[in-house]
Amino acid sequence: MVDQFDAKHLWHPYTSMLNPLPTFKVKQAYGSIIELDDGRKLVDGMSSWWCAIHGYNHPELNQAVTDQLARMSHIMFGGLTHDPAIELGKLLLSITPPQLDKIFYADSGSVAVEVALKMAVQYWAAQGKPQKSNFITTRSGYHGDTWNAMSVCDPVTGMHQIFGSALPVRYFVAAPQSRFDGEWNPQDMAELEIMLQQHHEQLAALIIEPIVQGAGGMRFYHPEYLRQVKHLCQKYQLLLIFDEIATGFGRTGKLFAWEHAQVEPDIMCIGKGLTGGYMTLSATLTTTAVAETISRGEAGVFMHGPTFMANPLACAVALRSTQLLLEQDWQSRIEQIAATLQAALQPLAELQHVADVRVLGAIGVVELTTPVNMATLQQEFVRRGIWVRPFGKLVYVMPPYVITDEELNYLLQQLGEVIVQMQVEKQYVIA
Ligand code: PMP
Repeated sequence: MVDQFDAKHLWHPYTSMLNPLPTFKVKQAYGSIIELDDGRKLVDGMSSWWCAIHGYNHPELNQAVTDQLARMSHIMFGGLTHDPAIELGKLLLSITPPQLDKIFYADSGSVAVEVALKMAVQYWAAQGKPQKSNFITTRSGYHGDTWNAMSVCDPVTGMHQIFGSALPVRYFVAAPQSRFDGEWNPQDMAELEIMLQQHHEQLAALIIEPIVQGAGGMRFYHPEYLRQVKHLCQKYQLLLIFDEIATGFGRTGKLFAWEHAQVEPDIMCIGKGLTGGYMTLSATLTTTAVAETISRGEAGVFMHGPTFMANPLACAVALRSTQLLLEQDWQSRIEQIAATLQAALQPLAELQHVADVRVLGAIGVVELTTPVNMATLQQEFVRRGIWVRPFGKLVYVMPPYVITDEELNYLLQQLGEVIVQMQVEKQYVIA
C-alpha cells in the first residue's frame, strides 16, 4: 500500500516526483527480516545497501547505542574528544593496512571520498606541486553522489551527462577486464601506463574500488590489477586511494578487499558496514607521511571539519559492530554464504537471458542480457516475500551475515524462480 504523503512529498533515491516507483512502508526490521506495515515479512537480500551486516535490531548494537545515549549523543570534535572515537580508532588501525596510521572521521561514504581527494590535493600542494590536482580512475567505478565523488564515477552509467560541464573533468581508463577468478591479462594495464606517462604531472591520485566495482556494475576483477596499479602509482608519483566503502567488513571474504592483493593504499575510505548499518559514519585513513606532509604545508592543517565529525553515538555502535564481527568466525560464515550463493545462482547461467553469474564472498550477482523493469520486478519480489533491489541489468544479493540457512535458501529459491519466469513474463524486463 503506497503512502500518499510519501509519494507526493518525499523524494526517494534516484526517483521521479512525477512518476515515483512504488515504495513499501516498513514497520520494523529484525535479524534478516523486514516487516512491512501490512504485516508481510520479507527476507532481506540487500543489507540496506551493504551496511546492515549483523542484520536489524541487534540486541548488542542496540545496547551500545543506548549506553552511549545515556552519556551524550553528540559533542563537537573541534577541541574535544571522547572514548568512542578513540577506542574505535584503535580498533580500526589494528584491522586496516599497516601503513595507515591517521584517521579522519566523516559523516557518509561520499564525504569520506571528498576528504580523500582533498587530502591528495593538499599533499601535493604542500610540496610545491599545486598542478598535481587532478585524478585518474577506471570506468565502471562508483564513489558517491557529492560533486567530486560524482566526477570520478563512471562517466556513462554515472551522472556525467546530466551534470555536464558543471563537473570537474577527470581522466578515465577502461575498467579492468581480467576476472577475479580468471586469468590475468597484462593488456589491462596498457591504457593506464600511457595515460600516466602523459598526464602524471597533473595527477594527484588514482582512486579505485579494490576488487569489486560495486554500483558501477558489480564487477569482480583480478588482484594483479591492484598490484600493477600500485607499481604505476609509485613510478609516476601518484597517491593511491582505495574506496573500501562497499567492500569493507568482510563482504568480499576478506576483512577488507585490499587483502586479496596485499597492496596497501596511501589513503583508504571506509563506511557503510562500519556501524553495522545503524547510522551514518565513515572514515578516511591515511599514512603518517601523507598526514605530516599536509601538516607541513602552507595551510598547516587539513582543511575539513564536518559538524557531526566522529559523532559519539555512531562511533560507539561502530566499535561494538566491528568487535562483534571480529569476535565470531566471520570468515567461515562468509564462505558458507558464498557456497550457498554459488550453488543456487550458478545454474541460472544456463538461461538464455542471463549473461553472467558471479559470486564473491557474500555477494551474488546475476547479470541479465537486458535491463530490468524495476517497478514490476520489485513488486514481484515483495509478493514472494523477499527484498531484492535490482538495477540496470543486475539482479544481485548481499544478505546480512546473520541470515539463517533457511532464510537464505528461501531468498535464493524465490529469486531463482523469478529469474526463470522472466524468460516468458516480459513485464519484468525492458525490451
Ligand atoms: N563509495 C562506494 C564504493 C559506494 O558503494 C558508496 C555508496 N554506494 C559510496 C562511496 C557513497 O557512500 P554514501 O552513500 O554513504 O555517501
